[in-house]
Amino acid sequence: MIVTALGCLAAAARHAPAQAPVRAPNENGRIPILEYHLVGERESRWSRSRENFRRDMELLYQRGYRPITVAQLVDGDIDVPAGLSPVVFTFDDAPPSQFRYVEHNGRLEVDSTSAVGIWLAFNRLHPDWKNRATFCLLSGAADGHAFFGEKGIEGQKSAWRFPKLRFLVDQGFELCGHTLWHANLSRYDARMVQEQIARGVLAIDSAVSGYRVRTFALPLGLWPRDRSLAARGSWKDPRTGMEVKYSFDAVLEVAGPPVPSPASAAFNPFALSRIQVTGGEPGKTLDQLDRRNDRFVSRGPGRIIRTGTATKQHGGTSTNRP
Ligand SMILES: [Zn+2]
Repeated sequence: MIVTALGCLAAAARHAPAQAPVRAPNENGRIPILEYHLVGERESRWSRSRENFRRDMELLYQRGYRPITVAQLVDGDIDVPAGLSPVVFTFDDAPPSQFRYVEHNGRLEVDSTSAVGIWLAFNRLHPDWKNRATFCLLSGAADGHAFFGEKGIEGQKSAWRFPKLRFLVDQGFELCGHTLWHANLSRYDARMVQEQIARGVLAIDSAVSGYRVRTFALPLGLWPRDRSLAARGSWKDPRTGMEVKYSFDAVLEVAGPPVPSPASAAFNPFALSRIQVTGGEPGKTLDQLDRRNDRFVSRGPGRIIRTGTATKQHGGTSTNRP
């Protein structure tokens, strides 16, 4: 059985949601997509400290942001309450520091010091901060970057890899492709590009049977020479003769500004830029959005439909859980 370590503690500390300032709706505003790699002891180019990661969520929460997945973004399924704004969290490379298990008396618990543990504790404190984030996975890279750890690296057993993916899906998180071992797709021919992407998708399907991978993150933000192969392609497994096809609804780049609203004609789901969270981010980006009055503010849950530059909204509940 899988339980989270901080359950009791967090339940005791639960309180009413903080009062975010009420803002006028602006469904033509921009939406920040944040990008994390390692979450660990200290801060570096590719690592966010645990404390700063928790503070990032606190900052966003207090400033009226609530998380959605990439799949929700491209569907225009922005289910945040009126007056609040969506933010997208993406986690790249599947290192153990994002999601570790610890074994206690034969039971697996989410390590409260891993990013998923910190996230779940925050969700318990603030139930309106839902479990919505997108994990862009490597299935076979070095140093434990293989579905969050293997072979004893950081205490992680290989047998825990598939259960971790199933746990994420059960919680409402999205799984995203990021190739087999982080290949620089600009350097390889079309066959190798498709093999790298398809094998990553195939590995996710092995863990969560029938899961439709809708989002792909370009390793290093680098495109293959034939850009269309980042979104669509196929590869024939020589061992089984089976053809593995992939067709994504979203492609993530690396560095850039917050993305336009899905209502805007400028919204391109196949080239979504992200903000790497280091140093003064995401605070700098949030300040800039407020200064320019260019922040997406919801008028209430419901689907946003692209209609040129204006927005139209359908009522009803959202159906596109990741
Ligand atoms: Zn990466």
